[in-house]
Amino acid sequence: MANDSILIKDGTLIDGTGREPLATTAVLIKGGLIKAIGAAATREAMNHPALRTIDASGQFVLPGLIDGHTHLSMIQGTPEGIRYPTSAEHCTLRAAQHLPSILRAGFTSVSVPGGKWFVDVALREAVNTGMLQGPRIFAAGRALTPYGGIFDQRPSWERGLPDDLVGILCNTPEEFTVETRRQCKNGVDLIKIADSVWGDTQAVSLAEIAAVVDEAHRRNVKVTIHSRGAGTTRDAALAGVDWIMHADFATGDDLDAVARAGISIMPTFAQGEIWALHGTEVPQATKDRLKWQLDINVKSMQAAKARGIKLLIGTDSGNAPVMTIGKWHGYEAAFFVKHLDYSPLEVITIQSRDNALAMGLEGKLGTIEPGMIADVILLDADPTKRIEVLGDPAHVTAVIKDGREIDLGPRPDSSDLIAA
Ligand SMILES: [Zn+2]
Repeated sequence: MANDSILIKDGTLIDGTGREPLATTAVLIKGGLIKAIGAAATREAMNHPALRTIDASGQFVLPGLIDGHTHLSMIQGTPEGIRYPTSAEHCTLRAAQHLPSILRAGFTSVSVPGGKWFVDVALREAVNTGMLQGPRIFAAGRALTPYGGIFDQRPSWERGLPDDLVGILCNTPEEFTVETRRQCKNGVDLIKIADSVWGDTQAVSLAEIAAVVDEAHRRNVKVTIHSRGAGTTRDAALAGVDWIMHADFATGDDLDAVARAGISIMPTFAQGEIWALHGTEVPQATKDRLKWQLDINVKSMQAAKARGIKLLIGTDSGNAPVMTIGKWHGYEAAFFVKHLDYSPLEVITIQSRDNALAMGLEGKLGTIEPGMIADVILLDADPTKRIEVLGDPAHVTAVIKDGREIDLGPRPDSSDLIAA
């Protein structure tokens, strides 16, 4: 009984609902769930004198954070001495190696919109069964890509896409349907559709998006789409995807369609800025394009926010060598505060309660309230005063996932994310 119970006492509770922080508050965790808060928690804890107690005085108690866009198996660079870094075997081992760094940063959940082979499904199962220590994973397989979609950048006489790419070619509604079925059969939580890289052209049709949504939803699998373009964003809204990623060029009319459909947008600004500022391997032309497009995306997301569209937070960590897994998961939150005028408290709510949508766990994960999944972190600095504290491993003093405290190992120095 006592083994699965933890009392966190005297911390300042930021519960993820948007409510003002509560000083000197107790949280009781039992059986993997939040059992009680405040006086009720203290009272109930008296029935279990042997339970583990964490003294959180001077610390901040938050829900485990959720990165809505992280690639675990996508690109990890080419380590010396590895002959085939894109093999399923290598991708699996490398991704497994990265998992603890995500927890160390205070992120207990990641949504993975696209990866190699079915590596991310295997990682999810390894974590869920206790083979590996890592965050909760919501896994897609390879992204469904038409000709000219984000992962199809080579001419058509180089037929198809090699098996080790993140994209898989689908060019008719039927092909989209069949691939969706295949991936569902193999255990994905999520289907990722890939439109054109920058959104200049609409590569995927309304009929194709609708075919995926119909098939996936019938099988209780979610759908998201890389959609930087205007028409694609409108069609994704009409087809009823679960959330839209990027939406850079969405016009007022497109955003009205998104608002009417009640669909959320996850912009992923961070990777544009990080690639531009830190991507030594990124060509200058790409950096220039990123900066130009980032400004457009900020404006379209300001317009989305003004329409009451819910924005979600994802970093696209792991999509390039510069996007080191474990390093940047908190970066987007600071961007939201700086450029979209959210308060730190509002951003924490997005990063926990609202992002649970991207884990398929809305209403079950992301807040510290009785009955919710017990993912809880402790920080030694106040993120409502300085949002950069989120995601900085140096400020994370404890991580509890599914009601169990994780052994985080030694605490690192303040990450260079803060120095950046
Ligand atoms: Zn991505």
